[in-house]
Amino acid sequence: MNSKQTVSREIIRTAISMNTLGINRGTSGNVSARHAKGCLITPSGLSYEETKPKDIVYVDEEGAPHGLHAPSTEWRFHHDIYRNRSDVGAIVHTHSNFAVSLSCLGKEIPSFHYMVAICGGENIRCAPYATFGTQKLSDHAILALVDRKACLLENHGMICVEETLEKALNLAVEVEALCEQYWRALQIGKPKKLSKKEMQTVLKKFRTYGQVKKPNHIQ
Ligand code: 13P
Ligand code: ZN
Repeated sequence: MNSKQTVSREIIRTAISMNTLGINRGTSGNVSARHAKGCLITPSGLSYEETKPKDIVYVDEEGAPHGLHAPSTEWRFHHDIYRNRSDVGAIVHTHSNFAVSLSCLGKEIPSFHYMVAICGGENIRCAPYATFGTQKLSDHAILALVDRKACLLENHGMICVEETLEKALNLAVEVEALCEQYWRALQIGKPKKLSKKEMQTVLKKFRTYGQVKKPNHIQ
């Protein structure tokens, strides 16, 4: 297991990157990584540029915070996602422009492009609205993330869950691009949807997409 210091540094780097990449701003959004039996998470409302590793808060398996500051107001959904999803090691939540715009329609992102499948299924769901920081929002997010690595939060933003912080951030950039592309397509007509069958084919292809590691004995 990486040290608290190492993981905290990576969390801060990820949170700053959300803003420099243009998918978030100010103290909106939050970032966490699984650590020990709980998770390490950004403190609430603290500028990411000013945040030091000692400011990152540990939330234990009971949901109790340990640290110098109050944890992100969204610690509940971070905590609940780690408890429900053994495949998740890191979470990025952003208020990116196109994801927020589409979330205000309260609709899922359908299979308008095959890349929607990188989120794990044929669509990216939109969790119904609930006040930020509430258990209700967490409950909605958990359901919207079943068999998925990303979801929109109605009138709010998006959540991306992945094995690592780097992957979660990359996924957030990709989801924001998909939201922008869908938004643009909606301006000029009714986007055509790929069939369930085609999305199943794509999902299957994604399982072996990229540089699949060969066993050692194969050169
Ligand atoms: P925090 O600063 O408490 O993490 O809140 C930001 C946010 O995005 C709430 O949904
Ligand atoms: Zn938020």
